[in-house]
Amino acid sequence: MNPDTEIPAGIYIHIPFCEKKCFYCDFYSVTDISQIPLFMVALKKEIQMVSRVSLVFDTLYIGGGTPSVLDADLVAQIIGFAFKYFKILPEPEVTMEVNPGTVTLEDLTNYRNSGVNRLNIGVQSFHAENLKWLDRIHSAEQALLSLDWARQAGFDNVGLDLIYGLPAQTENNWLEDLERAVDLHPEHLSCYMLTRESGTPLDKEVSAGRIRWAGDNTLRGLFETTIDYLTRHGFLHYEVSNFARFTEADGSAWKSRHNSKYWSFAPYIGLGPSAHSFIEPERCWNHKSVQNYIRELQDGRLPVADREKLTREQLLMESIYLGFRTTKGIDLVRLKDKFGIDFLKHFHEMIADFEKKGFLKVTKTHCALTVKGMALLDSITAAFTNQDIC
Ligand code: SF4
Repeated sequence: MNPDTEIPAGIYIHIPFCEKKCFYCDFYSVTDISQIPLFMVALKKEIQMVSRVSLVFDTLYIGGGTPSVLDADLVAQIIGFAFKYFKILPEPEVTMEVNPGTVTLEDLTNYRNSGVNRLNIGVQSFHAENLKWLDRIHSAEQALLSLDWARQAGFDNVGLDLIYGLPAQTENNWLEDLERAVDLHPEHLSCYMLTRESGTPLDKEVSAGRIRWAGDNTLRGLFETTIDYLTRHGFLHYEVSNFARFTEADGSAWKSRHNSKYWSFAPYIGLGPSAHSFIEPERCWNHKSVQNYIRELQDGRLPVADREKLTREQLLMESIYLGFRTTKGIDLVRLKDKFGIDFLKHFHEMIADFEKKGFLKVTKTHCALTVKGMALLDSITAAFTNQDIC
């Protein structure tokens, strides 16, 4: 196991290509797929160079971008390389993001045969008008077909991504999406609120007044509706945007093992342009541009753009923020062991105030946000982290 954490690490591989750039998205990706061959050479080199790290892993996540723009044999090469060079424990979770409209039954079967055992399908919505507004390349029918093919290809662990909070979206419209999703029986659902990421075309349109942004109260209402609906329909809400279906066998839930690492301070390695890595106390991130990424590796250098060593205060603040993102909440015992801080004592006035307002709940071992509190995650976290805590 890994020193310090006793939690196996995760590998994230960023595939920086999309068929078309979505106007609301700020993940790094380009549409020039002619760079794929050189990217593949660079990625393999990066895997070889980074694999010298003394960590053991139990998850591999291929995200992007749109990984399914890669031919299945390239995905097989990436997985083969990762397994050859990294120390990966038995029964790893191997996830791949796919977009409807970019995959066939044959592709999905090949991904499955290459070792992918969990799929994340970017459905976004089952309403044609929403997909049109989001300018997605796929239709609702293609999304349904992708899920059907995923099952035929042998995937028994499938997550769907949905987006809500579109300007003209009503609560009923969103509830219909949730209902459709639940009926399809996925193992996992990620429900993301549409956000106005600075610098995106969406952000510019909203600033120019050409798109009317849904108000905070509407968005908070949709957030609460989501949690209410899904927890009443067999899903465990375990992180702000993430829901895992309870299994019928033993009542456990199909959480994303990989994403859970981000919220529990487990180490992870990020490969590919713009990918971030974290091995406490250091975080580093790769060059964003595919060209720079390729050039650095061609010259025999790791494509790291920058790195920072988190101070004790920064680590503590991140523990609070990440803890509040999860429904389990901040692990008070762990926080005390690690930072020597008695959280309940240190913040007793603020905690009492938030508890009274129904934003927080405290047990002997954890301090967690309620649904109402999670809708105000950023401002509540800021109230704690803006105080002198060290
Ligand atoms: S397909 Fe996904 S990653 Fe690519 S631009 Fe659209 S939202 Fe972003």
